[in-house]
Amino acid sequence: VLPAPNPQIMLPDAAALQTAVALLQAGHCVAFPTETVYGLGVDATQDQAVAALYALKGRPSFNPLIIHVADVAQLEGLVVLSPLAQLAAQRFWPGALTLILPAAPTCPVALLARAGLPSVAVRIPDHPVALALLRAVGRPLAAPSANRSGGLSPTTPLHVAHSLGVGVPLILAGGKTVLGVESTILDLTTPQPVVRRYGGVSLEQLSAGLGQPVRYQASVADATPTAPGQLSSHYAPQKPVRLNVTTAQADEAFLLFGAELGLRGGAVRLNLSPTGDLYAAAANLFAMLHVLDATGCSAIAVAAIPPLGLGLAINDRLQRAAAPR
Ligand code: AMP
Ligand code: MG
Repeated sequence: VLPAPNPQIMLPDAAALQTAVALLQAGHCVAFPTETVYGLGVDATQDQAVAALYALKGRPSFNPLIIHVADVAQLEGLVVLSPLAQLAAQRFWPGALTLILPAAPTCPVALLARAGLPSVAVRIPDHPVALALLRAVGRPLAAPSANRSGGLSPTTPLHVAHSLGVGVPLILAGGKTVLGVESTILDLTTPQPVVRRYGGVSLEQLSAGLGQPVRYQASVADATPTAPGQLSSHYAPQKPVRLNVTTAQADEAFLLFGAELGLRGGAVRLNLSPTGDLYAAAANLFAMLHVLDATGCSAIAVAAIPPLGLGLAINDRLQRAAAPR
């Protein structure tokens, strides 16, 4: 007995690509094959779309995402390409290598997709369907693996459908992925290039391709919320952060959520979402933290955020920001 056809899964013909582009432009997610694993893509320039992606994956935290582009020309205005980055691009793209690069001053990638960081992780995937989609949409796509958080990385369209269910409106089919492991992540924002995650391209291949030794060094304590000052891959405000505040001090900046009834004080007040919408709050989180951090206030006071859905990831990020340093 053949399994019932799944209307979410489409062969990547011209009509399917057109549907995918329309969905992405409207801020929805589209799953697509790459040579590593299936990716869950959204328009990386739309904060709300990125919030929807985190919600669909059920991620309990906001990790920065890998931004996919069709060609090096699409990186113009996105990142700063050093000569070493250009060499890596020439040797390894399209391919299973992600480069962490300084964001360009005009970088349109949503702060939520980079978790507030001044750097961006970018890659050109080596898969005809991924490249056709990226060219058709003409925008950078943020695309983590197309599975629920904690699940196995998907290597077939059915894996994606089973893991994400009806939440993903379209899965472009491209057979089984060739590599089945994620891309290697190479950090080029450090004085020496360092690999942050092992993946499809080996240390030996990198060393040979770049003409210099490349070593592995994990970013410090990504998982411990106790020491955000040490986290090389997470943004934390400079100012102290105080959580679950109902009355802010006169010299504090106050980050609010929902109706402001009973929330008093603060020299500067910004509301993540006056209507209590957690998607909007996630979309605004990093931009508002940056703004409040740049004020002359002594600290950032934050109102309580409900620990539900995207609120879990928001609270995770705020707890890291508030941990003693
Ligand atoms: P995923 O897209 O879920 O396969 O994983 C993305 C990986 O890239 C995570 O381990 C991130 O921490 C890492 N990453 C993405 N952007 C950056 C960045 N700007 N700085 C450091 N690490 C990053
Ligand atoms: Mg994954």
